[in-house]
Amino acid sequence: MSGLPSGSDIRLPWHLRLPGPLERDFTDFFRDSVARVAPWAALNVVVLLSLALALEFSMSPEVAASTWRPRLLCLMLAVATALVARHGEWRRWLHGLSMALALAVALTGDWMALTVDHPLAFSLFLQTPLAILLMSVLLRVPFYWAVAGSVVMIGALAASLYQGGRTGDDLAMVLLLLSLSSASMSLFGQYIYERLLRQHFLSENVLFQHRDELHSANRVLESQATVDGLTGCLNRRGMESRLDELLHGFSRGGGKERVSVLLFDIDFFKQYNDTYGHLAGDECLKAVASIPRSLTQGDKDFVARYGGEEFMVVLANTSLKDALVVAERMRTRIEQLGLPHSGSRVSQVVTISVGVTCAGEHAADANTLIKCADEALYQAKGAGRNQVAYMNDQGRVLAL
Ligand code: GH3
Ligand code: MG
Ligand code: MG
Repeated sequence: MSGLPSGSDIRLPWHLRLPGPLERDFTDFFRDSVARVAPWAALNVVVLLSLALALEFSMSPEVAASTWRPRLLCLMLAVATALVARHGEWRRWLHGLSMALALAVALTGDWMALTVDHPLAFSLFLQTPLAILLMSVLLRVPFYWAVAGSVVMIGALAASLYQGGRTGDDLAMVLLLLSLSSASMSLFGQYIYERLLRQHFLSENVLFQHRDELHSANRVLESQATVDGLTGCLNRRGMESRLDELLHGFSRGGGKERVSVLLFDIDFFKQYNDTYGHLAGDECLKAVASIPRSLTQGDKDFVARYGGEEFMVVLANTSLKDALVVAERMRTRIEQLGLPHSGSRVSQVVTISVGVTCAGEHAADANTLIKCADEALYQAKGAGRNQVAYMNDQGRVLAL
């Protein structure tokens, strides 16, 4: 069991509303997905309205004289809907314009059916069921908008049928039933469509959120696995992978890029612990580690805690000569910290010994490089501590 919810575990409530800010995000997502097809739906309406207008002109100029204005209004709304759908910054008006278009088709239908003087004028009442289909199936306004729109359209139709007296009761009933069935079927379809879309959106969102949480937890674990908790430097594992990475790039570049390694160890640290206690020893380690960290600037450079009180500084693009300058500066800065060390036999304060080497012909892989730096460090310790020693290109260990 991974403990992560799967898509089907996440239940959407019957009323469709998503929790909190997800609802707002879904509104944008829904509008953007509808906007992709809305221009085609609007084009469909433009063609149908133009055909209706052409038919009315061919029937009689008197009919067309009453119908061209409402038809033109609907045409303009359809064109506006298509334009709004295509422009990102206007898109928030899309559902509003779609609703206005559908309402205009239904209400102008009622109005024309009442005012046009023609025996077939009652057929214009059929614009109500058509407008309901247009609203839900073609332009896909949100479900609750479609419910409200259907109520208004059917209400207006009922009022026109029974107040206007243009049809008998039977025909009025047929027209109303037709509108009601078109509303119930298209609203049911709209509910299912929106439910599936919302469920899909919710599942993806929750899973993405868990994926992001998992990613950040992994990043924390990764850094915990490669960083030393006491000093904040890389630990040995982190050092090995960074050094391998660096030397890999170094060998790919034909050895032109220099990589220098500085290994240093605190002098007489056992005595420091014995004199001041282990906790003070930890504080001393933190203070000492801060110096090399402040001296490394390149993003490829790094400081690692190699062992107990032994640290490694790796400098990319740095020659042996420059690395020796950094090593000496580091040694003096640590000495200048002035951390009292009465148990030391070389100074009154905490000091370090440093071994330096540079990747070249005598050492190109990480192990040999560390071994060379360790030999130089051993030499610095043997020669009296609180000093820098190095291994040159010929593999000879020398004091600075
Ligand atoms: P040398 O000059 O030859 O290096 O002498 P040294 O006493 O420093 O010898 P060595 O390097 O062998 O001593 C390491 C000491 O570092 C032993 C151990 O008690 C201490 N040490 C290692 N890790 C820690 C740590 O995390 N905290 C503290 N306080 N002490 C540590
Ligand atoms: Mg030591
Ligand atoms: Mg040591």
